[in-house]
Amino acid sequence: MADPLTLIWAAMEAIDPTLLPDGWRRIAPAVLRSLADGGIVVQGDPVERVRCPVCTPTHFEPVIATVGRDGSVEHFIKCPREMRVRIRDVDRQTWRVDVGAVAGAIAEEAELEGDVRPLVSDRIWHCGHLVVRGVRVEILLARGLTRSDGSEVATSLPRSPLHRLVLVPGVVPDESVWGSSVPLVLPLRSITCIAGDAFSIDRHAITQAVQRLLREGRSAPNIFHRRGENWDIGFDGGEILSFADSVGLAYIARLLAEPHVYIPAVTLLASRAGIDSRIPTGSSGPAIDERGRTELRNEYRDLMRELDEARAMNDLARIPTLEMRVERLTQDLASRLGIGGKAREATDPERVRKSVSMAVSRDIDRIADKLPELGRHLRATVSSGLFFMYAPESDPEWVI
Ligand SMILES: [Zn+2]
Repeated sequence: MADPLTLIWAAMEAIDPTLLPDGWRRIAPAVLRSLADGGIVVQGDPVERVRCPVCTPTHFEPVIATVGRDGSVEHFIKCPREMRVRIRDVDRQTWRVDVGAVAGAIAEEAELEGDVRPLVSDRIWHCGHLVVRGVRVEILLARGLTRSDGSEVATSLPRSPLHRLVLVPGVVPDESVWGSSVPLVLPLRSITCIAGDAFSIDRHAITQAVQRLLREGRSAPNIFHRRGENWDIGFDGGEILSFADSVGLAYIARLLAEPHVYIPAVTLLASRAGIDSRIPTGSSGPAIDERGRTELRNEYRDLMRELDEARAMNDLARIPTLEMRVERLTQDLASRLGIGGKAREATDPERVRKSVSMAVSRDIDRIADKLPELGRHLRATVSSGLFFMYAPESDPEWVI
């Protein structure tokens, strides 16, 4: 019997990640059953051509189906020696590797946080993230990177300031496939094994790889990351402290995510409400229900896109209308989030801006009490008013 995972990982690198009978028969039946039970492999389409089971040397023939008088279907091939050779269903059986299920198994066994989702069609999957010593590392699974389009796939991965550990099934591709930002790459064989008959992933090996990444200095010394009811905040490689959630922290995180850009109050409110794509988890709690959140998210996204377009085209007819809609959305969000005073008074956009400014400055004070250096940095770089902006002199890299 061959090492089952070597066969599985080799198949996963192929365009069609499928094990044919010649492949899966080399895996012990108990192991194959356990992989199927875990959803790592699923039944694929039966093969159309099979090798003749009676001849040596063998020959490959197309499978022909016949329907008997009782309606039962039988399969056979033509054979020069035996005329007709019956082919059992099992001889046509294939097993396809479910890439998403592999990503899910990694997420589960390595106890990753976050969601499992495809990032680049069926080639790169997001498995989740790990936070090691306060540094957040995204764990990805990528296949087929050594193929001719590998570089195209690798460079179409959305840009991210976060650190990445990429798991690959087979050969570690040449660093040049990544373009300018090379992640840490680890072959799956170094973190997986068959223990007993079951597929298992070594969480410790992943953590060790992440720690190696940190030791090599590829870590972000600055963190502003929300975890549940608390925020992990650290600056310039110093201590990482936990801060109780509060509205200003969500605003600050949104500003740090996009330095040197004027950010309107509506975007800060959107980040707090969990409807801004840059900061997916908002701090609004139950103030907005899931349905309202989806509607608001769509409205916000469409509006911002239209406004960007109109500004890019200097469409003076559309800009004022869109800006009025932005104001309305700002007021709607502010009143739903319960800020800016009583419902009637909240129609004053100036009050909303004031309230957001105050929340930001209050939380900068709170940070300054415990992390004076970061407090000084934020006071010097965050401006508020009609628009908000984080404009540092050097560009510290933030994990958010
Ligand atoms: Zn034959």
